[in-house]
Amino acid sequence: MFDNRSISDPGMPGTRAVGTLLLGRVDELRRSAVGRTAARRPVREGGRVRARSIELKSPAEITAMRMAGRLVQRALEAARQACVPGATTAAVDAAAAAVIESGGGEPLFLHYPTYVPGEGFPARTCVSVNEEVVHGIPGRRRLAEGDLATVDCGVRLGDWCADAAITVPIGRVQVDWMHMLETANAILDEAIAMVRPGRRWSDIAARMERMAGDAGYGVVREYVGHGIGRRLHEPPQAPGFVTPEFLRDQDFTLRPGMVVAIEPMLTLNGSKGHAETIELGDGWTVVTADGCPAVHMEHTVAVVRGGAEVLTDGR
Ligand code: MG
Ligand code: MG
Repeated sequence: MFDNRSISDPGMPGTRAVGTLLLGRVDELRRSAVGRTAARRPVREGGRVRARSIELKSPAEITAMRMAGRLVQRALEAARQACVPGATTAAVDAAAAAVIESGGGEPLFLHYPTYVPGEGFPARTCVSVNEEVVHGIPGRRRLAEGDLATVDCGVRLGDWCADAAITVPIGRVQVDWMHMLETANAILDEAIAMVRPGRRWSDIAARMERMAGDAGYGVVREYVGHGIGRRLHEPPQAPGFVTPEFLRDQDFTLRPGMVVAIEPMLTLNGSKGHAETIELGDGWTVVTADGCPAVHMEHTVAVVRGGAEVLTDGR
C-alpha cells in the first residue's frame, strides 16, 4: 500500500518546493499567491474577519461560475470513467484534460506556481492514489483493483473558476476503505446542507470535524477549502475542522454571494494521531505519514438567499 521507496526515489528532484497550494495550505497561505492578495484581508474585528474582504458574487456571476462548474463536473466524469484497473494516472488526467480542452476551459492546476521560480504543477489534474492525499502528479502509476483514486480538477472558463474533487473506487474496494469514502461524501453533503446566510463557517467546520471523528477517521489539517471566483484561491480559508486560531482570527459569517470550495479530507487511521501528512520529494505529492489511505471530496458551493447552490454537480 505504502511504498517507502517512493520517498527517496532518485528519479525525483531533491529540492523541495515549499508551499504548493492547489489547496490552501494552512501554515503557508500567507506567503502564497493567495496569501499575498489576501494580505489586506485577515484583519480582526472583534474576532471576526471583515466581511467586506470576502468578495461577493452577483447572481449573474454565480451563473457564469456554474458554467465553469459544469465543465469541471464533465471533466471529472470522464476521469471517473477512465479510472479502471490497469489504467495509468496519466490516462486519467488525459481523459479529464480532453474534456476541459474541448469545452474551451483553462486547466488551472497546470503550471500552478510554487515558490520556486520556473517550477509549477506539471499536469492538468491531480490524481492521488490510496496513501496519496492531495496533489498527486499523474504519471505512470497504474490503478489496481481495490485502489482509491482521488481526482481533483480546477478550471477557468471565461473569467470564472470552479474546483471539485472526487474519490473513485477502483473495482471492488475493501469495506473499511469504502466506508471512509462514503463518510467523506456524507460530510460534504452535510456541510452543503448547513450552508445558509448568517451561519458561521465554524459551525460547519466543527460539524465536519465531528462527523469524521465520530466515524473514527483522521482529519487532514494541513490543507483547507477556500474562496473561489476569478481566481482559484481567494479568501476566506474554509477548513473542515476548527482551531483556536481560526475561531479567533479567521471565522466568518456566510453571506449571499460568497462562493467557497468545501473539501473534506479524511485518512483511515484517525486513532493513530492527527492524520499527519508528508510532502514527497517531487515538491507536490502529499501522502499520509503512516501510509494509510485517504479520501478527498470537493464541491464549489455558492451561498444564496435560500441556502446553498452547488456549482460543480453538473446541473
Ligand atoms: Mg480546492
Ligand atoms: Mg480542488
